[in-house]
Amino acid sequence: MRKKIVAGNWKMNLDYNEGLSLFSEIINMFKDEATGKQQAVICSPFIHLHSLAQMARGYNNVAVGAQNAHQAESGAYTGETSAKMIKSVGAAYVILGHSERRQYFGESNELLAKKTDTALKNDLKPIFCIGETLQEREANQHFDIIKSQLAEGVFHLAETEFAKLVIAYEPVWAIGTGVTASSEQAQEIHAFIRKEIAAKYNQQVADSTTILYGGSCNPKNAPELFAQPDIDGGLIGGASLKSRDFIDIVKVFN
Ligand code: PEP
Repeated sequence: MRKKIVAGNWKMNLDYNEGLSLFSEIINMFKDEATGKQQAVICSPFIHLHSLAQMARGYNNVAVGAQNAHQAESGAYTGETSAKMIKSVGAAYVILGHSERRQYFGESNELLAKKTDTALKNDLKPIFCIGETLQEREANQHFDIIKSQLAEGVFHLAETEFAKLVIAYEPVWAIGTGVTASSEQAQEIHAFIRKEIAAKYNQQVADSTTILYGGSCNPKNAPELFAQPDIDGGLIGGASLKSRDFIDIVKVFN
């Protein structure tokens, strides 16, 4: 059985107190309403991580993650945060390769391969994001883009390391736009990703890799998306900033 995960990406939202109060609501609702068959992960800004990790203690099915980590272990990189630092405050996950980081911070597959190595070395679980832009989809290049993001970003990993990853398919045209990939479009790419993993490693690794969908996922469209055979949960942006919406998405796996 693959792990079902609903991960929230708060992006650069919420001050310290706002973040703590939203997380407190999420934990309470999760405790009262979720069956615990699923894993919830909140990826917050760095400033919240330590406090959220403390609040999540005792809740096995609620974890905390960062949204980025530097590729170096430590050093003169003013303003950056290392994987070791993130791990040391109690975070378990880190989003790597989000399209906003690729677009606004020029993160390449090559750089992301290094970030993935460093995150894994420090015992963080990467949620590795891949996905095509609208232009690429319209040019019918989406399969090639996915293929190269996997090949250059994570397929250098040994099988035992790759098995620690969560993959998130996030079509860039669906992120924060209110436009969701149809369940057929999402399933088609998720099945393709799984096929690529099987070809690179083996069927058993492919069958046990959790692959999330991200892109304007909400409580209305989540049931149909998550019912697809190769969709194992979601990476949720906007809707993760509302406790009710986030928990309703989590509850699709009850
Ligand atoms: C995201 O940022 O990963 C995301 C999926 O955002 P949204 O749900 O707002 O489209």
